[in-house]
Amino acid sequence: MRHHEEHAGHRASWLRAGVLGANDGLLSTASLLVGVASASAGRSVLLAAGVASLVAGAGSMAIGEYSSVSSQRDAERADLETEAVELETMPRAELAELTTIYEQRGLPRSLAREVAETLTAHDALTTHARDELGLDPDDLARPLEASLTSAVSFALGALVPLLVVLAASAGFRVPAVVISTLVGLGVLGAIGARLGGAPMLRPAIRVLVGGAAAMGVAWLVGQTFDVAVG
Ligand SMILES: [Zn+2]
Repeated sequence: MRHHEEHAGHRASWLRAGVLGANDGLLSTASLLVGVASASAGRSVLLAAGVASLVAGAGSMAIGEYSSVSSQRDAERADLETEAVELETMPRAELAELTTIYEQRGLPRSLAREVAETLTAHDALTTHARDELGLDPDDLARPLEASLTSAVSFALGALVPLLVVLAASAGFRVPAVVISTLVGLGVLGAIGARLGGAPMLRPAIRVLVGGAAAMGVAWLVGQTFDVAVG
């Protein structure tokens, strides 16, 4: 049963990272395409701009995520090493520390002591990792998987406005991208809010207003260049 719950929690955090990546890919590529399309660019320019945005964004997400999650994992490993050394060199102090932790969580002192002694005999490092550091030694941060999740979800998000802009006829490109992007942002916002256990309406409205503003600015920029060039 407990095993099952851990996996569910893990899946939720993965989904959350995926939702954020898709959100970024969707909105940044849509804004770029709205700007380029409103400057009266043709299909080949839109295709090149959209693919460039997808590739650049996915690459940037992958690198950023890899480096930040690597730092997190290094910190987790360093914490575990420190803990192992402390358990080796000052076992009494560590036992007292653990006892205090269980006392603060509501156990009476004698029971806290007993739990601490039993768990220390069973697996001292895992117990300290979990109850003192909040870490599961078998489940440390995974940089490679995190970076792949971000990159792939960004690319999937970016694919939506790219396909829409290529499919739409010239006069409808901007409204088609804007509408499909707002729908996509709404869906992602609802999924994200549900995962976070938060109410859905307010975050969805924030994301939609922000998304509309970003595309509006891009549209204005495109219009400016259209006038300047044409
Ligand atoms: Zn400790």
